[in-house]
Parts: sequence; structure tokens; C-alpha cells
Amino acid sequence: MIVHDTRNAPVLFISDLHLDPARPEIIRLFLAFLADEASRAQALYILGDLFEAWIGDDAVEPDHPVVTGLRGLAGAGIPLRIMRGNRDFLLGERFERLTDCTLLPDPSVVQIDGEPVMLMHGDSLCIDDADYQRFRAMVRDPQWQREFLSKTVEERIAYAKQARAESTSRNAMLNDSPDDYLMDVNAGAVETAMREHGVRRLIHGHTHRPDVHDITVDGDPARRIVLGDWYDQGSVLRVNGGEYVLSVLPVPGVRRR
Ligand code: MN
Repeated sequence: MIVHDTRNAPVLFISDLHLDPARPEIIRLFLAFLADEASRAQALYILGDLFEAWIGDDAVEPDHPVVTGLRGLAGAGIPLRIMRGNRDFLLGERFERLTDCTLLPDPSVVQIDGEPVMLMHGDSLCIDDADYQRFRAMVRDPQWQREFLSKTVEERIAYAKQARAESTSRNAMLNDSPDDYLMDVNAGAVETAMREHGVRRLIHGHTHRPDVHDITVDGDPARRIVLGDWYDQGSVLRVNGGEYVLSVLPVPGVRRR
């Protein structure tokens, strides 16, 4: 198991950056974060949806600025561990080699200051959304992935565009509707996952609802920390000297909405 002692240097967790050329200010914020804070950390974990879309490792240029930025972290000797999200579930071995990162299984358990901590993207906990879980099972199927990756880059871009448009309109419809809970985790699924892995602390993203939830699992106090997305600002969880602090990273020159 990966072991961290945060008395020496902080361990950083981020997720849901949804990097997209349409939001260059967020790419700049992330590259600055990599070059500055992350390069002084003990390790950086990215818990899914680093990219808004990922149609396959073969479509990326090795000099892509984000790839170069990520590789710089490895060059500075900082371990970089990346979990696939529901947008970038096709991140693979070539990406791993190009960036010198390690792709983490979802879920993973690491030890921080002697405590086992479970890391997830979070979408597997949203079990109330049956439509989404069906889609998730389909795209995680190796056979589906092989067929998808055998299509041309143009065909894959067209598919990803359509899937994003459908997901955006569905989320907009669910948002502020009585079915809003479909987009959040299921409390029972959280408890089951934590019980199965013998943890009392969980860190995940996906829901874009950054918060720290005190819950109980089998009568024990437990904590679920939800990382925020990088749209209007960045979001980072710093574990330093045994303290967990979830903070906002402002975009330079932009006031939070
Ligand atoms: Mn997600």
C-alpha cells in the first residue's frame, strides 16, 4: 500500500478539472498549480475528470501543454497518481508513459498518517441514477472500448461531442428539479463502500459539490470529503501535518461568481 506521512510535506488531491481548450484560463491555472504548489508537494492525486473528454491516447500530441506540465512534476520527483473519471475513462498506458504518472484503480486505498483512506472518482456511488449507471457499465466494458478505439479520431470526436451534449442537457434538466438527488451520491452506497474497504475516510469528486460530510459507518464516526470542480475557480484538498483542508484556488483576475 502507498504510505504517506504528511509531517514532511503536503499531499494534494484535486479532481474534475474538465480541462478543455474552451476554458484556457483554467488550463493556465492548472499549469501554474503544477509548476508552483504541486512541485513542492509530497505527491499529487488527480481523482478523475482531469480532461473534459479523452477519446484515446493515440489522439494526444506528446507536446500537449498539459502533458508537458504533468511530465514536469515527475521530473521534479513528485509522484503523480491519476484516476480515470467518467469523462476521461479511456486514459491508458501511452498517457501514463508520456506523463510519467501512475493510473490508479477506482477505488484505491492509501495510508495517510497511519490511517487508511479510500479514493474514488465518485460516479460509482451515484447509484440512484440508473440511466447513468447503464451508460457507465457500457463504456467501461473492454469490448466496447476496443470497438470505440478502432474508430477514426474524427468519428470518436463526433461521438464524444454528442455524448457531452446529451449529458449537459440531462444535467441541466435534473439540476434544481426534484430529481436533483440523482446527481449526488447514495448514502447507502457510501457506507457499503467504506465498510467493505475498512476505511472511515473517503475522498472523491465527480458531484461538483465540494464539502466535508461527517457521517457514521457501523456506529463509527467517518468523514467523506468531496473535491470541487475547476470551472469558476480551482479546488484543492491539502493534507498537511495530519490536517485536511479543502480550499478554493482563485483564477487570477477573476472574481468568483
Ligand atoms: Mn465525473
